[in-house]
Amino acid sequence: MQPLCRDHPQPQSFDRVLSSMCTRPHPDAVAAATEFLTTNPGDPMTYQSIAKIESKAVNLLADIVGEPTATGYITSGGTESNIQAVHAARNRSATKTPNIVAPESLHFSFNKAATVLNVELRTVPTDEDHRADLTAVENAVDEDTVLVVGVAGSTAYGRVDPIPELTDIAHRVDAVMHVDAAWGGFVLPFTDHAWSFAAGIDSLTIDPHKFGQATIPAGGLLVRDPSLLDELAIETPYLESPTQATLTGTRSGAGVAGALAAMEALWPHGYKETYERTMYLAERLETELSTRGFETVTPHLPLVAADIPRELFTALRSEGWRIATTADGTLRIVCMPHVTQSLCESFLSDLDRLRRA
Ligand code: PLP
Repeated sequence: MQPLCRDHPQPQSFDRVLSSMCTRPHPDAVAAATEFLTTNPGDPMTYQSIAKIESKAVNLLADIVGEPTATGYITSGGTESNIQAVHAARNRSATKTPNIVAPESLHFSFNKAATVLNVELRTVPTDEDHRADLTAVENAVDEDTVLVVGVAGSTAYGRVDPIPELTDIAHRVDAVMHVDAAWGGFVLPFTDHAWSFAAGIDSLTIDPHKFGQATIPAGGLLVRDPSLLDELAIETPYLESPTQATLTGTRSGAGVAGALAAMEALWPHGYKETYERTMYLAERLETELSTRGFETVTPHLPLVAADIPRELFTALRSEGWRIATTADGTLRIVCMPHVTQSLCESFLSDLDRLRRA
């Protein structure tokens, strides 16, 4: 195949990537995405084969979260799912001054949602273990709260909020309980955390294009009660299909087909194996970093955080390591499926060399 242009950069290599919440997709996902590149699930009556694939993908996602009757759609990613969760909750409520309450560990997609939807965002502190502080959430909700957010696999520290308790608070004020499991959703089924529909929640974000090992773009928005999705439905006069609940109009069939192919290939054994391997690596990395005297945050999911000097962080980046920090400057290493033992060893060896330099 001829390259589009000789000057184009090469496709992404995952060789030194320790910061991304995305990963190398499963080969079946790549093949399926390529096959369905020209389809548009945004118009399911016209593009019927991809519509069937989407419904299978949603059913599989529902199985993964332990609520086989949950419904939803394949979004472009966690941002769209979170925006649409806020959108549905706002439309469901009669209040003219809606607010949403979320721990400060929330993903910034909720800031986008609040701005776009003109909803007040109330962020409340987390506790000393970086999980939502229940008293702070309790104090922040009121009769205008339309949605409470719990994070199941936070972007900064990989923490899981106390979802059943947050759900009680949300339901006491008749708000929707939404769980953002965009990153954690494909590893959480193999842990003891209470995070899914079984914990009484109403809507959930879970992204195949993160730990699900699908091709980008593939997010997932699931709801327990289909009437919540109806809050999003817009009439679509010029299409064969009468209504649309999605945020985007035309969407990529590639993402949808890639999501189903990855999940069919990996659920449940492949995802379990990935969880066990990446969790082991995260725990090993934490031990190695704390042995070297760095302050670390114990991983609950495959993500390690450690305080390393800024100069060392900068030196590692200039050696080509793709690493990032939390808002307060702590290094975070995300052990995604492409992260291997030898990649971790090579990172530690560079870290040792540079800190001695
Ligand atoms: N929610 C969480 C917890 C995330 O970690 C992310 C991204 O990393 C998102 C939402 C947003 O997902 P996306 O970048 O696919 O829109």
